[in-house]
Amino acid sequence: MKTLIVFAHPDERSFNGSLLKETVSQLESDGHEVKVTDLYKQHWKSQIDEDDFPVTHEKGSRLVVAVESQKAYSSHHLTLDVVEEQEKMKWAELVIFQFPLWWFSMPAIMKGWVERVFSAGLGYALPDRYGAGGFEGKKAMLIVTAGGGESNYSARGINGPIDDVLHLINHNMLFYSGMTVLPSFVTYKTDYATEEVFQNYAAKLRNTLKNIETIEPIKYRKQSGGDYVIPGGILKEGLERPGETGFDMHIQKD
Ligand code: FAD
Repeated sequence: MKTLIVFAHPDERSFNGSLLKETVSQLESDGHEVKVTDLYKQHWKSQIDEDDFPVTHEKGSRLVVAVESQKAYSSHHLTLDVVEEQEKMKWAELVIFQFPLWWFSMPAIMKGWVERVFSAGLGYALPDRYGAGGFEGKKAMLIVTAGGGESNYSARGINGPIDDVLHLINHNMLFYSGMTVLPSFVTYKTDYATEEVFQNYAAKLRNTLKNIETIEPIKYRKQSGGDYVIPGGILKEGLERPGETGFDMHIQKD
């Protein structure tokens, strides 16, 4: 599989940096083609602003980001850094996002990559979303390192269940833009990891990656799959399990 890894950590000697090496080496030894976007090394500009639309937007005039984004994307006038990342996205069959969990989400530099690369007309503002859209047919997976312990991210854990914490990325960014999302790979208590702990996680990750082509995706309900009242985007009554509320309702059970 053609795999793009979008990587966000400021130091390649980090736990994340070491995990990245494991990922690249496992995927390549299994015959996959791999490209890495190393956001800090690339000095990625994380904020979207009028400099993103140098040709189609008159500098100093009022900026409506989605409108300008659509205009620049459809007329091929986005900046080169964004175009290069969009080309990688178009090339990729699997996109891995690897990052340390910072404030229960991705580091700002990676959020900025999504904001700029998933431009209107490609990542959003299409007639279809949630299971359809510009990135339909691609798979996506998160590799996340957390400082908190696993119990903190369990069903009754104080941080909230890890699948809920990652829901807005997995469901509302990746599935939204059409990708099929694989279960996330997460390490816990990462700040306290010894080399032995690292090796255990690395082995688990290598094993996951060996089976990457057959891993069952998260069964998010497609917007156009008949489960939602359209317009409105509301899950039809009775599709949830008794008592089920919140994010879980948007995942099919069998
Ligand atoms: P590093 O600091 O690079 O390494 C961690 C440990 O692994 C070190 O002791 C290192 O020596 C050891 N190690 C063992 N083997 C290796 C090896 N082979 N290579 C490299 N290192 C190795 N956590 C949460 O759970 N939720 C949050 O919301 C959250 N928010 C945060 C916000 C900020 C701004 C910051 C700075 C941290 C936050 N954290 C949070 C913690 C954060 O998720 C962890 O600090 C991070 O996941 C650790 O990953 P790292 O790659 O930076 O680890």
